[in-house]
Amino acid sequence: MKVLIREEEIHEGISKLAQQLHQHYGDSPLTVVAIMTGSLVMLADLIRRLEMPVRISLIAASSYRGGMTSGEIEIDDSRMLDIRGRDVLLIDDIFDTGKTLVEVTARLRKLKPKSIKTAVFLNKRGKSTVNESPDYSVFDIPNAFVVGYGLDYQDLYRNLPYVGVLEESDLKQHSPH
Ligand code: 5GP
Ligand code: MG
Repeated sequence: MKVLIREEEIHEGISKLAQQLHQHYGDSPLTVVAIMTGSLVMLADLIRRLEMPVRISLIAASSYRGGMTSGEIEIDDSRMLDIRGRDVLLIDDIFDTGKTLVEVTARLRKLKPKSIKTAVFLNKRGKSTVNESPDYSVFDIPNAFVVGYGLDYQDLYRNLPYVGVLEESDLKQHSPH
């Protein structure tokens, strides 16, 4: 595994994002909507640095079906909090083609929040197929398949405290046996 972003750099980056959010929202209450499962680690780190009143809501979206190829996006918002009239920050692990964030944002707009901003942990430069871009991104990365800090390959590696690029030797099939 080649390390792309070290643990210390990640923590500095997340602190900087929290500062930017304080500048923008001040003491106003914020509803953080996190796209599962990839943004789980970012969510846990970010909310502990936020000082305004924070509500947390989870939403599930899947596009990459376990492997490395993109498929249709499935959204499960059955456990969403009421966000009508609220300031919402939607967070995701990575902005790749941008489809996930655009589709989830559109879904949330129907719930009539006061505002929606988007923050991603990683922004893959040059791959976006949509006009929108995230309001905040912690790191820009080149076009490589990365894992760690919430991001998986076949549901593994999410627990790595750093971001790594998978190498040939990591790519063998993982079987439970
Ligand atoms: P988008 O809809 O922007 O193309 O894709 C976003 C989703 O694709 C992310 O939430 C993530 O699940 C997955 N994805 C995109 N690029 C990568 C990557 O380099 N590594 C991993 N592990 N997932 C990725
Ligand atoms: Mg994801």
